[in-house]
Formats: sequence, C-alpha cells, structure tokens
Amino acid sequence: MRRAKLIRSTLLALFVGAVAFGIGVILNLSERVENIQTAEQSDPLWVGSQLQFEMLRLERELSHAALGIKPTSDVALRFNIAWSRIYVLQQGKLAKIVEQFDVDKSVLHALDRRFQELESHILEFSTQDMSDVVRRRKAEMIVHQLEGYDFSLRNFLLDLAQAKTSSLSDFRSGLLSLSHTIAYLGVTILAIFGIFISLLMVELRLSGKREREMEILVEEANSVSRMKSNFMSVVSHELRTPLTSIIGGLALLQAKVDTIIDDKTVHQLLDVARRNGDRLLTLVNDILDAQALSEGKVSINKVTIDLNQVVRDTVESCQPYAVSRGVSYDVFIPPGETLANTDASRVSQVLNNFLSNAAKFTQSGDVVEVRLRRLGDKALVEVSDNGIGIPVEAQNDIFNAFQQVNPGTTGPKKSSGLGLSIAKQLMELLDGNVGFRSIEGKGSTFWMEIDLVS
Ligand code: ADP
Repeated sequence: MRRAKLIRSTLLALFVGAVAFGIGVILNLSERVENIQTAEQSDPLWVGSQLQFEMLRLERELSHAALGIKPTSDVALRFNIAWSRIYVLQQGKLAKIVEQFDVDKSVLHALDRRFQELESHILEFSTQDMSDVVRRRKAEMIVHQLEGYDFSLRNFLLDLAQAKTSSLSDFRSGLLSLSHTIAYLGVTILAIFGIFISLLMVELRLSGKREREMEILVEEANSVSRMKSNFMSVVSHELRTPLTSIIGGLALLQAKVDTIIDDKTVHQLLDVARRNGDRLLTLVNDILDAQALSEGKVSINKVTIDLNQVVRDTVESCQPYAVSRGVSYDVFIPPGETLANTDASRVSQVLNNFLSNAAKFTQSGDVVEVRLRRLGDKALVEVSDNGIGIPVEAQNDIFNAFQQVNPGTTGPKKSSGLGLSIAKQLMELLDGNVGFRSIEGKGSTFWMEIDLVS
C-alpha cells in the first residue's frame, strides 16, 4: 500500500516536472521566434544597404555639382537622408540588433562624425549665393572628404550579412533540437500519464475488491455477534427461572433442615449449594444487564428519591454477604434528606457492586466505610475498604468488561469482571459519574456522583 503510494507520488512528481519543463521549452522557443521576427521586421542589413545606396547618390549629386552638370538643390536632401540612415543604425531597436550581432560598427561612428563636420558646408549650398567656382570647389572638397568610406561600409554590411546568416542557422539548429526535446517530452509525459492511469485503475479495482471483502467480513461479524447475543440471552433467561426456584427451594430446605437434622455436613453442603446458587444467579443477571446495555435496551426510570434511604437499604441487603465474609459496614449518612432525581434501583445496583467488591477484596474482620456526602449540587457516595487494593498497571482498565486483576481466581473471590463495567454504563445513563482511588496492599475507595435536586 505504502509502496504504491510512493510510486504514485514519484510518477506524479515526474509528470509535473515534465510538464513544467515542456512549458519552459515552449516559452524559450517563442522568445527566440520573437527575436527573429523583430530582426526580420527591422533588418539592419537592409538599412545598411540603403545607407550605402544613399552615400552613392550623395556622391553622384556632389560630382554633378562639382562638374556643374546639375544644380546643387538635391545635395542637402541626399545628405540628410544618408545621415538619417546612419542615425537609425545607431539608435533604438536596430542599434540593439547590431550590438547582438557583435560586428565592427566603427564605420558608423566615423561617418557620423564626418557628417557633423560637413553639415555646415552642405548648408552653404542651399542657403548662400556662391559663385560656380566656389561651389565646385566645395563640392570637390566634400566628395574628397567622403572618399574611403565605401570600402569600410561594404565590410560592415558583409559582417552584418554573415552575422545574420549564422544567427539564423543557430536558430534553425536550436529549433531542431527544441523540436526533438518537445517530441521526447511529449512521449515521456504520455508514458507517465499512461502508467499513472493504469496504476490508479489497478488500485481502484483492488480497493473495490477490499471493500467487498470488508463488507462480507462485517456482515459475518454482525451475524456472529447477533448469534452470540441471541444465544446469551436465551441461555441466561432459560437459566434464571429454574435457578431462582432452586435457590428459593434451597432456602426453604435450609430453614427446615436447621430444625430437624443436626448433621453439620448436611448444613455445610446446603450452605455451599445456596452460595453457589446465589453466585450463579448474580452472574446470569450480570450477563443479562451487560447484554441489555450493549444493545441500548436498559430502561431508566427517574423519580425524585432520598439517597439516604437508598444507601441504607442497599447496605442492609448486602449485610448477609458481608457477614459471610466476616466484614462489617460502617455507614455515614448526612442528616435530613438527600434528594436526587434518579433511578433508585440502578443506583442501588451500582452501590451493591461497590459494597460486595469491598467485602470480597478485603480480609475478614475489616470494616468497610460507606459515606454519603452532599457537595454543592452533587451527592457523593464513597465505599472504602482496607483490602488488597488494585495494582497501578491494572487501574486504567478496571471499568472495562471482563477486567479481572487476578483472572482465574477461584473460591469466594472469583469474579466475572462485569460488575464495574455495568456500574459505569449505568451511571452514564443516569448522567452521573463513577471513579476510584486505590493503593495496592492498602485498600480502595470506589465512588459515585449523582446530581442533587436543585
Ligand atoms: P465482579 O463483579 O466480578 O467483582 P467487577 O467488575 O466488579 O467484577 O470488578 C473487576 C475487578 O476489579 C475485580 O476482579 C477485582 O480485581 C477488582 N476490584 C473491584 N473492586 C475492588 C476492591 N474494592 N478492591 C480490590 N479490587 C477490586
């Protein structure tokens, strides 16, 4: 399960990584395409050729002027056009592209400087009246000044052309390798996606199968538990009725035999039979109660009662058992009435469990203290003995069903381990509380807390 999870996470990470890488590659590609488009749209090579062309036209106009073939009116225009080309190549987008191509552009600076020097002479052509001789000399001088740039300009254009070609071929090879990468990436992404989906399908099928198995198991467990419940309640009910009559019959027999037969062994045998009958009845009752509680079938009948009376009555009903164990109860009850809105028989059942446990788990001759106190809006009933106590390691589970500190104990201390769990559940139904404190070898105090009538 964990391995499948790990594989799935790794595949997912790979998939996300591949997609992110693919997006990066595509962005990179579109950036390159954009660069090339910009270079195409504003081609420095084209502007450079225009410059070369304009230089030639300027020189031709100047030569015509020097020879006196044509008027000088076009010289300034040609000069300005050529200069504007130089300017365009040195500024803005084109200058950036030239910079990227990394070619020697010193000819542009030199031409720019030369045009600045010649600007005033060119102006003179159009603004001043000058004699033909002077004009021709000036034209000769300017033509002379412009000589030699042809060659450098041609070299500059050649360099530009070469740089552009190599950049284009770089781009093409880059484009090719990027296309390969994209193709590989596409295949990888598809493969990962495929594996991912297959894994998910397998897992879905497995989890469906597991779910069906779980449902079958739950169904089986439920039917087993139903069978067990039915069996338990049938057995307990079938046991309780004959048991009650056996115990009743034994009590009558005991009373009769006491007066008629003076045989110690007979008395002892009847006593043992009576005690075992009682224990069996308690056990059956406990099982029935536990069963009813687990099915939520315990009914609670809350009325306003005097807890003082409930404590007195319960202690009295436990007296025979305490006497048989050689233990006595010392009862402390506050004056007046202790009124609570609760179920007297259930409170008595819980207290009965505390009292019989205290008598059971203490030595003969001990005095068990039963104390009822009113603390604010609560009544606290405590049963304290000086018996064997409960070891610390067993204390956490003491209210769980079938919890016995010494399982398998026989004799009078034998217990089913159901009493305390029933007590706790009953007190929860009554909105009360139970608890205990105990020191092994020194004794225990079990308590219950019930809301008083306000
Ligand atoms: P049972 O009804 O069989 O006595 P309980 O649920 O009442 O079972 O008690 C569970 C276990 O708690 C007992 O087996 C015993 O080990 C321990 N126990 C209960 N009360 C006392 C006590 N007063 N002193 C020492 N041990 C106790």
